[in-house]
Amino acid sequence: MLPADEAVALGAVDEAGDAGLGEPEDLAEFTAGDITADIWFRAHGVRVNSGYLADGRLTTPGPRGTVAVTGTLNVVGYDHVHALGDLTDLPEAKMAGYAMRHAEVVAANITARLRGEEPTRTYEAAPHPMILLPLGPRGGVGQFPSPEGPVVVPVGTVVEYKGADLFTSRFAARFGIER
Ligand SMILES: Cc1cc2nc3c(=O)[nH]c(=O)nc-3n(C[C@H](O)[C@H](O)[C@H](O)COP(=O)(O)OP(=O)(O)OC[C@H]3O[C@@H](n4cnc5c(N)ncnc54)[C@H](O)[C@@H]3O)c2cc1C
Repeated sequence: MLPADEAVALGAVDEAGDAGLGEPEDLAEFTAGDITADIWFRAHGVRVNSGYLADGRLTTPGPRGTVAVTGTLNVVGYDHVHALGDLTDLPEAKMAGYAMRHAEVVAANITARLRGEEPTRTYEAAPHPMILLPLGPRGGVGQFPSPEGPVVVPVGTVVEYKGADLFTSRFAARFGIER
């Protein structure tokens, strides 16, 4: 339950459909009141699922369950074993958006090996956190990195990029699924 006196700040498309909100001072703030629900999920405290490495035969995960990787996303000590996604010890949030970027690097490096070339693609952890947090199909908040540092993403971008269909079209197209 959200306490009654807890103020909540939200970005949202206004009634005219104008998605121009973007600066922190534009965000609406209101007191939500008590919120009750039939079910709730604790959405914090996730841990990396690397138990299958527990015997240490390949590598020993660190205290957070992650695996040390090189710039080319190889498991440290192995030229032919890669790790990507949540498993890596990269200094960034555990996010699918990053895992997909890791995958591009790993795919390029495996392709290079198959061609008999040295793998050269490297991955740089994002210097600033990014997030797109839709609130329904017409609202939400977000933050992207920029050369000047992190910037608040206009709600229209959150809606267009993610909120409208939560990426389902993009993945359907990628896997050749007709909808
Ligand atoms: C509630 C929640 C919301 C999230 N929201 C977002 C979001 O909005 N945006 C975002 O970018 N990221 C989000 N994430 C994070 C995102 O889901 C992860 O970063 C991403 O899925 C990591 O991909 P991965 O391939 O590394 O791991 P996973 O997606 O966890 O894939 C690992 C796979 O390995 C399988 N596996 C594990 N052990 C074994 C084994 N021994 N043998 C065979 N298979 C095994 C698992 O079943 C799983 O399918 C969210 C995560 C959670 C929990």
